[in-house]
Amino acid sequence: MAKITYNNKKGDFYPTLKKKVNAYFEETGKTKTGTWAIYHKAIILYIVAIGCFVMAVFNPLDLANGWRLLSCAILGLTSASIGFNVMHDACHGAYSTKQWVNDAVGLSLNVLGGNAFLWKQKHNIIHHTYTNVDEVDEDIMKSPVIRHCHTQKWVPAHKAQHMYLPLVYALSSFLWIFVMDFQKYFTGKIGTTNAWKMNTKEQLIFWGTKLYYVGVFVVLPISVVGFLPFLAGFFTMHAVMGLALGIVFQLAHVVEDTHFFSGYEDTKIDEEWAVAQVLTTANFARKNKLVNWYVGGLNFQIEHHLFPRISHTNYPAISEIVKAHCEEYGVQYNDAPTMFGAVRSHFKMMRLFGQDKDFVPANAHLHHAH
Ligand SMILES: [Zn+2]
Repeated sequence: MAKITYNNKKGDFYPTLKKKVNAYFEETGKTKTGTWAIYHKAIILYIVAIGCFVMAVFNPLDLANGWRLLSCAILGLTSASIGFNVMHDACHGAYSTKQWVNDAVGLSLNVLGGNAFLWKQKHNIIHHTYTNVDEVDEDIMKSPVIRHCHTQKWVPAHKAQHMYLPLVYALSSFLWIFVMDFQKYFTGKIGTTNAWKMNTKEQLIFWGTKLYYVGVFVVLPISVVGFLPFLAGFFTMHAVMGLALGIVFQLAHVVEDTHFFSGYEDTKIDEEWAVAQVLTTANFARKNKLVNWYVGGLNFQIEHHLFPRISHTNYPAISEIVKAHCEEYGVQYNDAPTMFGAVRSHFKMMRLFGQDKDFVPANAHLHHAH
């Protein structure tokens, strides 16, 4: 991996913003980490998920097959929401003041078949430090299947990527659990970064999780409903979960106004880290309470990237402080009013990256383009 550095001496954007946000918590007496505002979400989401699983597999109400497939789709939506609301905050240490609670709740990702240990490095360290730095940020590293930015190699198939993108997203959670985790485990690499070494306990958790997942989500349903009905339900669940995860995470960084940096060789980014976080990130539908509830505050990604250890339940309030601060410092605050607008903007960018190999986004920091 190339050495990427930020110029944190360039200004005082971040220290002054932190003071304002800390003052807000002192004045209101609110807690930065989770409270019942987030605990209740975990309870609701887990009850819905378990309910849908029971309906789909054991069918106690003798539902028709269409309704059981719908249960699988809702299970997919709910699983993604557990990822957004519960696992994400916990893995950042924002769910509770107690680290053991964060560690335990972070294992929600393992309950869904993933691996919290690998995620913490991939997401908390790599993605949150080198956001939209091509060749380092693993979230935009899906080449050659998808071309996420102008510095990535172009192949003719990318001309259709905006059309096959939903299919790739629909497969993403399945590939994450059954392919990408194993790739990271066996190669010891997360993108271009060397992965943290797993001790024996982490290796046991890794294999235990995968065995549990196959047992509960594959073997058990097959033994109850048979192979083909299982296949239909399993892929319905994953298609919905993958689409929800793919779209929500991508709306935060790959849209029209976000910035891109290149990390193909050692690069000094002449911005404070926090300013770069704002520039590479976008909010959407800040006023939409339903979207906000479902995506666990991931529509306030700017606030999340600046304050990942503050629970998402506080983002609506502090976003006004952050937005005003950005205006004061002349830092562009990307804020799509609606989720639909953000989805359209994402697909527009993906079409441009795919159809025109010479297209360079307005806010690209051009270095050593491929
Ligand atoms: Zn995060």
